[in-house]
Amino acid sequence: MMQKAKKLETKKIKNHIDDLIEKLKSGKINKSEITYLLKAKGNLQKELFEQARQIRQKYYGNKVFVRGVIEISNYCRKNCDYCAMRYLNKKIKRYGLTSEEIFSVAKQIRKLGIQTLFIQAGENLNMDKIVEGVLLKIKKELKINNIILCLGNRAKEQYKRFKQSGANAYILKIETSDSKLFQKIRHEPLRQRVQCLKWLKELKFKVGTGNITGLPGQTIDNIVDDILLAKKLNTDFVSTAPFIPNENTPFENKPYGNLNLTLNTMAILRIMLKDILIPTVSALEKIKKGGQLLGFNAGANVITVNFTPLSYREKYSIYSKKRFVVSLNHALDTIKLAGLNSDIRKRWK
Ligand code: SF4
Repeated sequence: MMQKAKKLETKKIKNHIDDLIEKLKSGKINKSEITYLLKAKGNLQKELFEQARQIRQKYYGNKVFVRGVIEISNYCRKNCDYCAMRYLNKKIKRYGLTSEEIFSVAKQIRKLGIQTLFIQAGENLNMDKIVEGVLLKIKKELKINNIILCLGNRAKEQYKRFKQSGANAYILKIETSDSKLFQKIRHEPLRQRVQCLKWLKELKFKVGTGNITGLPGQTIDNIVDDILLAKKLNTDFVSTAPFIPNENTPFENKPYGNLNLTLNTMAILRIMLKDILIPTVSALEKIKKGGQLLGFNAGANVITVNFTPLSYREKYSIYSKKRFVVSLNHALDTIKLAGLNSDIRKRWK
């Protein structure tokens, strides 16, 4: 009798999970159901991740996109409360790479057969001319077709110049969709960021956005709204990263973001947005050894390898100066452990 009741209960839970996943797939899911999935543990979480992997498999097979990132400058005109590159932090040494340095690292990335070059910096307008010049040279001499920029807010005209110089994708994370929280921690209005994303789409960039889970002051409802905003923005890439308290910032003593909440967010994004690119970010590895493997298991299909020259790497403290730096070996090992294959092609001479 007891066994029969238990079986019935298990069946009931299974039907409930199936029902929620179907709603998520069709997009006809309400906020309280997304909240329930964000808190998933045990069998529900296992099923969520399994469905996320199945959808990734359907659209991408076993393929993982490897990006090679160069962090070209840590100067920033903004003052985000969670980031040590904020301009009020006088404790970090600032740097900006020369055009020759950027080109030389891009060449190294190309030689390794990595298909996507990712150029990232604090919001430093002084780098714009250098970026435009080096992009033209990279396109002409290295023939890299996938060039992603992540340089922050700009005027539409500047985005246009980046596009004309050879960039084809741009990442602009919103971090939080709550306009009050955004204003409070980034000291600028969210609408400007959203406007920039719209310009980038008008200019036919591939566009990426994303959030941070566990930001001080963030609620679970905010994360639900982040997911719904990502759906509405209809971008090509989306990321979610756990909050890491960063030294020499107003948030340095705040608690770390929750790993499971981040992984559940990733899986929900995968099931809901299907063919979108989702990175397994280095902050996951910072929170837990093997964290990026968990990211792949929750539906991610991108990993970024760090090629910033050693002498500058420590100064790029976007998450933490003791951040986890992803090497090519670590990325390839993690991809293999997840049972996936990288898109790295034969080495280039
Ligand atoms: S998060 Fe970006 S914009 Fe904000 S301070 Fe850091 S580098 Fe600057």
